[in-house]
Amino acid sequence: MTTPARAACIIGWPVEHSRSPLIHNYWLKTYGIAGEYRREAVTPDHFGGFIQSLAVRGYAGANVTVPHKEAALGLSLPDERARAVGAANTLWIDGGFLHSTNTDVEGFLNNLDACAAGWDRNLSKAVVLGAGGAARAVVYALLTRGVQGITIVNRTPSRADALRDRFGDRVRVARWVELDGQLGDAALFVNTTTLGMAGQPELHADIGRLPSHAIVADLVYVPRVTPLIKTAKARGLRTADGLGMLLHQAVGGFALWFGKRPEVTPQLRALLEADLSLPAASPPE
Ligand code: NAP
Repeated sequence: MTTPARAACIIGWPVEHSRSPLIHNYWLKTYGIAGEYRREAVTPDHFGGFIQSLAVRGYAGANVTVPHKEAALGLSLPDERARAVGAANTLWIDGGFLHSTNTDVEGFLNNLDACAAGWDRNLSKAVVLGAGGAARAVVYALLTRGVQGITIVNRTPSRADALRDRFGDRVRVARWVELDGQLGDAALFVNTTTLGMAGQPELHADIGRLPSHAIVADLVYVPRVTPLIKTAKARGLRTADGLGMLLHQAVGGFALWFGKRPEVTPQLRALLEADLSLPAASPPE
């Protein structure tokens, strides 16, 4: 007896640039699962109607990207992670209900575990640059691993204040001009801004001030090796890059839709690296 094909998709506006189809269709092929992962370009006006009709359209679930992540939360039954982060990036249908989660949390943590085992042992201070949606996922993730103090530095101070109010006492805020001064006793530095991304301004941070045991993580993955990761490596620091996080955040959705927990392998990473190296590499999701 053959298992009927299942399908999932990524919903965004725009969505052409998304690398998610490459990842999920690779896993479908690798594990011999009958299924397909597609792109769906859906405007904000049509998003609600689209996700309410996922099953009718033949989908077991979907990823959600810009600009729909907050709307997805309100139109589904979010788990604790999605609620805590305030955004959902993964939807699935169970028992006739549309559920949601935020896999950026596990993507960030599992990538750090893979790149810098033991990173969370007695971690006293992390500095997080940025206060957008990705920063919310990172701060929540760090708190779940018992990081004792997180200092958020953001260009727009009110957004950093909002994160401190959301996540409580272990979160502090420092001003943009104080960034370098905050790095001297930081065991982890995470860039969650778009700085350093192809076509965006450079990130200026004095990585030389970080202690020699510090770890540097960058969520940006275009270019694949960002100037921040390059400088950190040159200093001999351990690093976790944005491509690794992108791959690890995809695992949970695939498992929910296709019933198999896939592996992030060097072969898959090489496929993505080759795609990102193409001259026409477009902005990330
Ligand atoms: P977002 O909500 O729009 O937040 C953007 C952040 O970047 C804000 O903190 C913003 O500061 C800051 N920023 C933008 N331009 C800046 C500039 N010129 N100078 C200083 N700060 C600037 O976006 P997001 O969803 O959090 O995504 C942020 C980054 O994470 C993107 O590069 C995205 O591709 C990446 N990401 C990667 C993964 C992955 O799996 N690797 C997952 C999620 C996100 P203000 O508040 O002052 O505007």
